[in-house]
Amino acid sequence: TALVVAVDGPSGSGKSSVSRAAAAALRVAFLDTGAMYRAVTWAVLEAGVDLSDAAAVAAHVRTVALVVGTDPQAPTVAAVVDGAEVDLTEAVRTDRVTANVSAVAAVQAVRQDLVLRQRTLIEAACVDPEPGREPGIVAEGRDITTVVAPDADVRILLTADESVRLARRARQDLGTADTDALEATRRGIVERDRVDSRTTAFTSAADGVVTVDSTALDFEGTVAAVLEVVER
Ligand code: C5P
Repeated sequence: TALVVAVDGPSGSGKSSVSRAAAAALRVAFLDTGAMYRAVTWAVLEAGVDLSDAAAVAAHVRTVALVVGTDPQAPTVAAVVDGAEVDLTEAVRTDRVTANVSAVAAVQAVRQDLVLRQRTLIEAACVDPEPGREPGIVAEGRDITTVVAPDADVRILLTADESVRLARRARQDLGTADTDALEATRRGIVERDRVDSRTTAFTSAADGVVTVDSTALDFEGTVAAVLEVVER
């Protein structure tokens, strides 16, 4: 039988890297749902769609074919543009996408569309795993435990104190000691979490969701804590 692990959490909680490592250890697939919101945001920006027009945004997103690679060693996301697959794994991390993704993710029709695609990817990893993988998946985002996969075998909310999250994110995004750039990153994260918290309920654990607080843990310790919840 397949194993579905749902992980939600805010920016800088480490949910992406921790979920990847947990998926690799469990030998199951890995799904970064944030990368899907980022990829459709890239497509909407590329097409010049007016971001304040929710109906137009949702209509364009519906036309975007995504190709999501769920290998925990090397997750990828691509879109089919004019019949050709365009790899977006790097492009979805740019500041322009990051600055606009919350607005796209706030459109309910976009969420309904992507939630269905995410469920399809989860189902595929369970019934038809890639060679060498066990049936199952670790899926991470902000509404996986509540909306996408509320029936998951394991549901985890990964949290960390805000100051720790900001420091981790700044180090990850910049790797620099430039204080102006760090302050800009910090403001960007606080703003994104503020908008996102109106869209999804990722800041508190729903019923039956186990909270893993990584504030005092290093990366390995956080992965071990997540695997411990899975093995319970
Ligand atoms: O996790 P990441 O920072 O890559 O997510 C990018 C954005 O995608 C979030 O800021 C949020 O707006 C959106 N998102 C979402 N629901 C998810 C995953 C991501 O709304 N399940």
